[in-house]
Amino acid sequence: MNSFYNPVLLSKILKSYLFDINRLRNLNDEELKKYQIKRLRKIVKFAYTVPLYHDKYRKEEVHPDDIKSLEDINKLPTVSKNDFKKYYPNGIVSSKIAKNKLIEVSTSGTTGKSLTIYVDIFDIVVGLFGYIRSLNEHGINWRKDRLTIIADFQPHTVESGYIHRGLQPRLSSNLFFKNIQWLNTNDSSEKVIKEINKFKPDFIGGYTGMLGHLALLKEKGYGKNISPRVMASTGGSINKALRDLIEKTFNVPVFESYASTESGPIAFQCKNDGYHVLSDFVYLEYLKKGIPVKSGEAGKLVLTKLYGHGTPIIRYDAINDIVAPLYEKCDCGLAGEQIKKIYGRDDLSFYTTDGKILLPSSFGEIFGRILYELKTNKLKDVRVIQHDINKIEIQAVINEKLRDVGPSVEEIFSVLKQGFREKFGSNIEILTKEVKKIDRKKPRIISKVDRNMIKITGYA
Ligand SMILES: [Zn+2]
Repeated sequence: MNSFYNPVLLSKILKSYLFDINRLRNLNDEELKKYQIKRLRKIVKFAYTVPLYHDKYRKEEVHPDDIKSLEDINKLPTVSKNDFKKYYPNGIVSSKIAKNKLIEVSTSGTTGKSLTIYVDIFDIVVGLFGYIRSLNEHGINWRKDRLTIIADFQPHTVESGYIHRGLQPRLSSNLFFKNIQWLNTNDSSEKVIKEINKFKPDFIGGYTGMLGHLALLKEKGYGKNISPRVMASTGGSINKALRDLIEKTFNVPVFESYASTESGPIAFQCKNDGYHVLSDFVYLEYLKKGIPVKSGEAGKLVLTKLYGHGTPIIRYDAINDIVAPLYEKCDCGLAGEQIKKIYGRDDLSFYTTDGKILLPSSFGEIFGRILYELKTNKLKDVRVIQHDINKIEIQAVINEKLRDVGPSVEEIFSVLKQGFREKFGSNIEILTKEVKKIDRKKPRIISKVDRNMIKITGYA
């Protein structure tokens, strides 16, 4: 298992590093497009050795040789979560790849509907390079600077798959990770800030909520030695007020990075706030009723991953993210397309009486207020349930240590209620309830409203 000095792997990584890291800088749009076509044809050919795709393509009477341009991707059927489940485990990997070389990662946690796929060590490395590329764009050198990465290290997650079960057993930590501090986002923010304070990083990357909590602690005088040059937020759209709070408190720019378990990294923000797709790693389609949306319009993301020898992801329609593309050039000069906004997961949404869909970006806005308006870390965890179209319930876990500090629990609930009333109208009934614990394996946002019974009019 331990390939401390695995020369083949190391040289492959080095070669990929040289070519992959700066591709969006080195290629122009036309060259990038050619590269995408080449990659697409290769990955479709590879997918044809995977029973799931083989069967689907045979049924639709489409062959890898039919894919000659990017537009030809339309000839391929989309794949869903159910397809993966039906063929799991042996039918989602290539007959040409030894399965014991692959690493399992799952997507549970956010939606409750978990999905397991396979990645190989090289997928992981390329994924990591996508992240390193975004750091490079912000002047952070991953070999020289000190990096703190606060990830979700529950056993099943993509992060522990990539790091604990993927890279760490195979590569020498001294060679690759000596200046990286890995922290767990499931730990308390007090514990996390203590560790960061000892490490004194140049860069901190983490989930939006955790970064918000850290900013509040910093405001209160914790983490005196923490002064990074840049920070990155993942796992959900960050709203302006929360971003301002983090930027002001740490006195650094914050950029967003966007990834999924199924695909690895997807996009990141440059210094000019352009949200750049890693167009050499993924090919994105944004569809509304099956038709591509215009620049700036919200559509459902259909994703194709252009590399890897684990489970191929080709026209995968179950990321469920609603995303608006932006077909404009950014001054920073990176090749490829941009994203205007990520609204969040379509399957984690509420519905209003006038048929609007309330996406996670709106929830982030409401909960962010507790941090930047009330300035309290007291809200430890939360779940919101929409029981019916006129009734929602907010369940909250209060940090006992902070119960008697700062704004009261009632004030917190009142700010949350106000936020939801602004989105739903004043007639909505809102129940609030303190609970001891929230099961993190289940979704934080649950709607019991039957989507099929509502005439959907758009996004709120
Ligand atoms: Zn840019």
